[in-house]
Amino acid sequence: MEKERTIAEPWRIKVVEPIKVTTKEYRREVIKEAGYNTFLLKSKDVFIDLLTDSGTSAMSDNQWAGMMLGDEAYSGSKNFYNLEKAVQEIYGYKYVLPTHQGRGAEHIISQITIKQGDFVPGNMYFTTTREHQERAGGIFVDVIINEAYDTHSEHTFKGNIDLKKLQSLIDRVGADRIPYVSFEMNVNMAGGQPFSMENAEKVSELCHKYGISIFYDATRCVENAYFIQQREKGYHDKSIKEILKETMSLGDGCTMSSKKDGLVNIGGFLALNDYDLFVKGMALLPVFEGFPTYGGLAGRDLEAVARGIYESVEDDYISARVRQVEYLGNKIKDSGVPIVTPIGGHAVYLDAKRFLSHIPQYEFPAQRLAAEIYVDSGVRSMERGIISAGRDKKTGDHKYPKLELVRLAIPRRVYTNLHMDVVAESVVEVYSYRDKLRGIKMVYEPAQLRFFTARFELL
Ligand SMILES: *Cc1c(COP(=O)(O)O)cnc(C)c1O
Repeated sequence: MEKERTIAEPWRIKVVEPIKVTTKEYRREVIKEAGYNTFLLKSKDVFIDLLTDSGTSAMSDNQWAGMMLGDEAYSGSKNFYNLEKAVQEIYGYKYVLPTHQGRGAEHIISQITIKQGDFVPGNMYFTTTREHQERAGGIFVDVIINEAYDTHSEHTFKGNIDLKKLQSLIDRVGADRIPYVSFEMNVNMAGGQPFSMENAEKVSELCHKYGISIFYDATRCVENAYFIQQREKGYHDKSIKEILKETMSLGDGCTMSSKKDGLVNIGGFLALNDYDLFVKGMALLPVFEGFPTYGGLAGRDLEAVARGIYESVEDDYISARVRQVEYLGNKIKDSGVPIVTPIGGHAVYLDAKRFLSHIPQYEFPAQRLAAEIYVDSGVRSMERGIISAGRDKKTGDHKYPKLELVRLAIPRRVYTNLHMDVVAESVVEVYSYRDKLRGIKMVYEPAQLRFFTARFELL
């Protein structure tokens, strides 16, 4: 058998941005000032920033060159037509409405499809997506398979929709009260876990039988396509481009945060096949985003989004990207630290419930852990647990999600594997003295999306 060879990143570095290491004493002080919320830290105080993979990608020379070709006309910018063409070609949908980022598209699709009291099934939830669905009067219903909640399960497609759960919702409320299924690709809150093509086919068949639309949350669509290529029978010899197009063809449109798989720092869009919906969306766009050919973005940004779409579906790029995440995940896992498996496409998730099993969920173990990792090494991560889940709108109590995680999200094309080694060492170090850590209490809580600005004190 041939020896397995090292595969290096398919790019070289042309511009660098210096980052600084601070002292532990200093970090202890600033995390306290930040209310033990990593969102409230200043970027200059962070060494390796794994807060999010959103808008943090390094753009290519080709994208930067495209930025110089920004056509800043208020209407009919050349760059819009480049974007429209890229979406039609790579995603396969007819109509494109640019938005300032993913949530802009979520807002529009929710407003034009959801009526008061409608039900919106989805595979787990995403914070902004569900918020917009609820604001439009919808009731979100989680229909992801149960394995998604089991951090130990090695199920290779934890993002799958449970067809029985979906069918029973249809039976219970009726198809006419379900405007669409919100189908997220490579589910963020489940740990970056994909759905299979087989599942998407079955969901598509079921929904279309009842006249229910499918709108993908395509934020991490390329990573989902990569996992299908790697894990699903019959797809190993297909290109990422082919797999992505095939997946998209099973749905009726998508919302996209290009800040993730789109390889840009800002931007997104809503893509649709239905003309009437497109017209409705186009009517709302100027109210919330901007004229329909710029949607809250500069012409140069539209160009970067268009070029990012093509780069994102190159097989060697996406392979290097996901392999780096796996590199970090395996290092942490092999040291005995509990993480979500299989390792996701955009992030490594530490299982804070097991990591800090002595801290009850109402004392925010994941938030505590993220703060401690920052103190140890200047690595910034974020909580994905009880704080992110928010409160029940009826009872006012915490939602107590099953998963209590710390997310180490890896920006695309930004860090080297030596950075990943530093991160792994720090996590292992904190794990070695985990028994010494105590919980925290919330001392400030905003009304919405509290994880962004809530403040805490040590207990
Ligand atoms: C980031 C994200 C969004 C929202 O996109 P923004 O560009 O941040 O507004 C929606 N869905 C998922 C799964 C995301 O990760």
